[in-house]
Amino acid sequence: MNRLSGKVAFVTGAGRGIGAAIAHAFAAEGAAVVLAELDGETARETAREIARQHGDAVQVLAHETDVTQPGSVRAAVDAAERAFGPIDVLVNNAGINVFADPLTMTDADWRRCFAVDLDGVWNGCRAVLPGMVARGAGSIVNIASTHAFQIIPGCFPYPVAKHGVLGLTRALGIEYAPKNVRVNAIAPGYIETQLTRDWWDAQPDPQAARQETLALSPMKRIGRPEEVAMTAVFLASEEAPFINASCITIDGGRTALYHD
Ligand code: NDP
Repeated sequence: MNRLSGKVAFVTGAGRGIGAAIAHAFAAEGAAVVLAELDGETARETAREIARQHGDAVQVLAHETDVTQPGSVRAAVDAAERAFGPIDVLVNNAGINVFADPLTMTDADWRRCFAVDLDGVWNGCRAVLPGMVARGAGSIVNIASTHAFQIIPGCFPYPVAKHGVLGLTRALGIEYAPKNVRVNAIAPGYIETQLTRDWWDAQPDPQAARQETLALSPMKRIGRPEEVAMTAVFLASEEAPFINASCITIDGGRTALYHD
């Protein structure tokens, strides 16, 4: 359980859901972990839980951070580096669902979606890349979505931003490959988190919506946050030194299915 030993990892949106699972998995693998989260109390509670589970030796720091604000991300990175040293791994996980009808959507919704889902990823990259490039090492993992290459009607403009995350991943991966900084993405399908539960609850019949999601899945189940975290550990570790500008899909095969 030392696949990330000696590494410093910075995870955005780590207070709950997939981000929290990644923070737990990184700590279990020996990394010092920084939880950069909009809600400071949620971040501190998750940090306390990590310390409870992984013992006093674990290095964990919670930092209230808004990924839409470059200054907030920079301040969190500075605090992380003061506490643990240079950042080796960045996981840009913070994200929100903005699902609207294109022609009735407000400008505010468009901006809110891009501010978190795309600008937030760029703000993280921009804060850590100079250090990674100078040291000639680093791994950035962007949590995209299967919406980064497939479209579900009624989900606009979330997939537009997630397509952008994939484009950003590939562009930065190529840009900094000569500096040994790898930039990859993970594209989860349906994963059981509050985000997904909120979406089901917003449907006219939440139970039927959940059953429909299950029925569409080739494996007849929904993914677990820990299943995304395992892949984040792999991409962050020395086990993936030649994987760059790439994307790993975690959806039980859903996007490979034409129809049944
Ligand atoms: P959750 O809503 O459960 O968790 C997202 C976390 O991000 C929350 O803790 C939230 O904080 C935080 N966050 C939101 N906005 C900001 C911000 N501006 N700055 C810092 N933190 C912020 O979502 P998931 O865990 O389900 O999703 C994580 C990522 O995975 C997202 O990028 C999402 O798009 C992606 N994804 C999720 C899928 C799923 O099925 N769950 C499928 C495909 C992709 P707060 O609670 O305080 O708002």
